[in-house]
Amino acid sequence: MQLLTVVGARPQFIKASALSRAIAATGGAIQEQILHTGQHYDAAMSDQFFAELGIPAAAFHLGIGGGSHGANTGRMLEAIERVLLAERPDALLVYGDTDSTLAGALAASKLKIPVVHVEAGLRSFNRHQPEEQNRVLTDHLAELCFAPTDTAVAHLRREGIAEERIVRSGDVMADAARIFGEQAEAQAGELLGSSKLQALAAADQPFILTTIHRAENTDDPARLEAILTALGQAPLRVLLPLHPRTRARIETHQLQHLLEPLMLTGPLGFLAMVLLERRAALVVTDSGGVQKEAFLQGTPCVTVRTETEWVELLECGWNRLADPADPAAMLMAMAQQLALDAGQPRPMLYGDGHAAEAIAARLQQR
Ligand code: UDP
Repeated sequence: MQLLTVVGARPQFIKASALSRAIAATGGAIQEQILHTGQHYDAAMSDQFFAELGIPAAAFHLGIGGGSHGANTGRMLEAIERVLLAERPDALLVYGDTDSTLAGALAASKLKIPVVHVEAGLRSFNRHQPEEQNRVLTDHLAELCFAPTDTAVAHLRREGIAEERIVRSGDVMADAARIFGEQAEAQAGELLGSSKLQALAAADQPFILTTIHRAENTDDPARLEAILTALGQAPLRVLLPLHPRTRARIETHQLQHLLEPLMLTGPLGFLAMVLLERRAALVVTDSGGVQKEAFLQGTPCVTVRTETEWVELLECGWNRLADPADPAAMLMAMAQQLALDAGQPRPMLYGDGHAAEAIAARLQQR
């Protein structure tokens, strides 16, 4: 079976690293080619991930990024269609909820090439969020929806997606957390070695690891100001690896002075990120992936959003939402999560860390 996988953004490289390994282990039964749309074109957000995570080099690189949602999606649609017409793969696989995901799914389904959606069925129920629009549409275009959780399966059923198209596979992010968590510990000295991260990651220097990048938190100056103000008043030192979008918005909104109390780095490689998630006393984030990784690595989390698609983490207490417009609410949530008993049970919400093998096996039955 010839499979064309479309990736474009950092979280997709991480998901692909887990699944591409399992596909390679099928001994040629599935032959995968990677198409990189270029949505994340910064070297620190892209090239480093391919190298570090052992993802097969992209056979196609579209170099499309930096535009508006509409312009990017339109240009990707046209370019992916061209590749599909030339290659005629048996299926196209997409991950998650980005513009690259939607463009790939649309291009393939118009050509009657079956679409496989990994990380299907998630819902934040916030229809203004570009990610929500992308994931809903992609689920409805897909022939096979690999859902990570029971909640995701329930969402797909409720939207009338046929039972035979839904597979409860577990979450490839749990695979990535298992594989790279072990690797990060083994390479800890090297990963932290020469950098200022070393002092922070030492056990006697408790710290908070933060990522902020969602459009709804960075585009609105008042919202971004509230978040940076709360981080500046946090009870522990805060490490903030700055996403390029956030860095650009801080400059545009002239909020640089709020960065002074924080420890800044550029975007981290994934292994360093995983290691810091493990070492941090608390994670504060608006990322979908990081909320879950914090849990998978045993660290409590505060999510600075008004809703999340990973509701199971709220139910078991490892994650807590905090209103990103309200510094006092964010500080209160940080204090509550820091008081959480680190030994409390972590239910196996996202599968056993072997979702990728299950997905590869199911694809071979097509
Ligand atoms: N990540 C990383 N380095 C960083 C920040 C994040 O490797 O400096 C990883 C993080 O561990 C997670 C993924 O990038 O696996 C999340 O990507 P992002 O927050 O951009 O997207 P989302 O998960 O919200 O879609």
